[in-house]
Amino acid sequence: MKYSLGIDLGTTFSSVATVDKTGRPKILSNSQGKSLTPSVIYFGGGESIVGDEAKEMQALGESEVASFFKRSMGDHHFFLNFGGRDYTPTDLSAILLRKLKNDAESDLGSSVNQAVITVPAYFNNFQREATIKAGEIAGLKVLRIINEPTAAALAYGISKNSSRQTALVYDLGGGTYDVTIVRITKSAIEVIGTDGDHELGGKDWDDRIATYLGECFRDDHGIDPLDDSITFNDLLVRCEDAKKQLSNRNKTRVSITYQGEREAYEITRSMFEEMTKDLMERTQILTEQVLSDARLKWKELSGVLLVGGSTRMPMVWDYVERMSGKKPISGVNVDEAVAIGAAVQAQIDSKTSSSLFLLSATKKIQDVMSHSLGLIAVNEDNTKYINSIIIQKNLAIPALQTRPYKLSVSRRGDSKLEVYMTQGESDDPMGCTYLGKYVFSDIPSISGKEAIIDISYAYNKNGVVNVSAKERNSKKPLMLSVEPLPEDIPDRFAMPPVQEEVREHLFVYLAFDLSGSMNGQPLTEAKKAAHAFVSQCDLTNTSIGLISFSDEVFVDLKACQNAKKIAKSVKGLTIGRTGYGNDAHPFDEIYNLLYRRSGLRYGIVLADGVWRNQPYAVKRAKRCHKAETEIIGIGFGHADRDFLRQISSSDQNSFFTNLNELTETFSTIAQELTESGKLRRLF
Ligand code: AMP
Repeated sequence: MKYSLGIDLGTTFSSVATVDKTGRPKILSNSQGKSLTPSVIYFGGGESIVGDEAKEMQALGESEVASFFKRSMGDHHFFLNFGGRDYTPTDLSAILLRKLKNDAESDLGSSVNQAVITVPAYFNNFQREATIKAGEIAGLKVLRIINEPTAAALAYGISKNSSRQTALVYDLGGGTYDVTIVRITKSAIEVIGTDGDHELGGKDWDDRIATYLGECFRDDHGIDPLDDSITFNDLLVRCEDAKKQLSNRNKTRVSITYQGEREAYEITRSMFEEMTKDLMERTQILTEQVLSDARLKWKELSGVLLVGGSTRMPMVWDYVERMSGKKPISGVNVDEAVAIGAAVQAQIDSKTSSSLFLLSATKKIQDVMSHSLGLIAVNEDNTKYINSIIIQKNLAIPALQTRPYKLSVSRRGDSKLEVYMTQGESDDPMGCTYLGKYVFSDIPSISGKEAIIDISYAYNKNGVVNVSAKERNSKKPLMLSVEPLPEDIPDRFAMPPVQEEVREHLFVYLAFDLSGSMNGQPLTEAKKAAHAFVSQCDLTNTSIGLISFSDEVFVDLKACQNAKKIAKSVKGLTIGRTGYGNDAHPFDEIYNLLYRRSGLRYGIVLADGVWRNQPYAVKRAKRCHKAETEIIGIGFGHADRDFLRQISSSDQNSFFTNLNELTETFSTIAQELTESGKLRRLF
């Protein structure tokens, strides 16, 4: 038979299970014949040693020992050095997993190469990816990653073969607390809410006894045994033992020897419960929060499943019974439930065995993520950074969510969009954890205006997230690269956003209709208006050219940034050089002079009468619009308003005025163009 493993890769202990030939899940023994393998590695003896022996070396004070590395999983900056080699948490987990795999193979007498591995529900994307990688390095095909409470529910689900139940999984281990609500039906286990506190676990209960005893000893002898690390560590071991004894007995004694003084203190269960009351309350607050988030009351629960060694404490049982009005559901060993559930899932996923039907129920699982995922954006009025949530917590996975964001892009199309992925519920960027920096490039140009970018987060069944983005108009997926998070994250988001100004070069051609009717006052006013226009433009960033037309077209000046040259050219505009009629239009010249230019391109066309072939002129003007050269039409006197609107790129770009206001109109346009050259970026 081909076996698959369920692996509970724990912070302090790990365990492995499989589904046997009869279709029943069972815990496998390690090489010492034990069901729990300490998650500890010793490097001192040349080869790495994993498990009980490594833990003993640690107790003897050896320093070449790695433990608690699960806490640093996915942290790119964390490594430990043994024998001149750096080990990442992934490397260390891989060594542990290889040992678990080898021991399982010995127990089964058969090779195994696929597994489901469990992770805490609060594990983020990188922590999950790191876990999958560790499994692969250890020679395992990782069928799936599942949340520990979900695995536990799966274990209870099969043993009960129940009809519909809504259960709460209360998982209190050595260093973490997780609470999850699951709905168990005949065919599926659905997680409907989860939360956790990974700074709370059995270790905190041990510490409370140690602190209490340290105080007693100081009162009696004036010296503090907690000042000495060896005495303190020894005391912690005794306190953990005392705590476990208090799960079965009403009182116990702990002795302390320090600096030649010896004392034994009695601790009763009620004293212990009093000194750890606030820790129990922390689990209660979180539990009730998850219930209220799921809009459930205690009495609506069919039962509470206990997972993790610390749930053996009677105070946990009392609390659960008091609140739910029922005893917790029992029948699954609290230390083994997670590995058992993972083995059941591995069997379902591997589809290798015909004995599947022997499982009392083969259930589908529906997991949720325990944290919201978002990104840093700028608020509406550009005054501060905010955390904008894309995937809400407790959404069922796999899941895909998309949200639109505005982005200023440069016409050259060289804009970049930096997405800082956050985990957390707060609006405030300072209250979030940062998971990564994703940089999108190759954003299509949209006339230098704001683009709508649709950003999608997709969670797969392992809770690993994939980020993608599309520009709304082109629907084209944007190119993505992942970059390391900058050092100043999140501090940079505490400041108001700096509006980086990207100045795009402006190219403007003033095209003046210099037919006979412009003679005299109109020409004088047109020149005045042109001078005013030039003086309002920022020539460090703007090139201005001149075109005159009537029966023919003449380029008086190619666009340049030289104020003197432009002024001279304006001065030199004369009637008659291009004839006196209205045969010509300036749009082909404007098009040819500008289409190769990168930057913002404008043709400002002044007309005072009716042109001979207006429909043709409109056609040629439209060619300019298409090539992203904007046409601004200004008319006065006998100009045709309708025609002006048609040659202009938009209604806002068409102006009808009179001679007295020509200068003001040109000045206003110059100011607006200067403004449009400055574009904002989000980052
Ligand atoms: P786990 O991480 O699930 O293996 O849980 C380990 C934690 O459970 C440690 O803090 C142990 O001290 C605690 N634990 C194990 N057995 C008992 C017990 N009988 N009473 C109280 N705590 C226990």
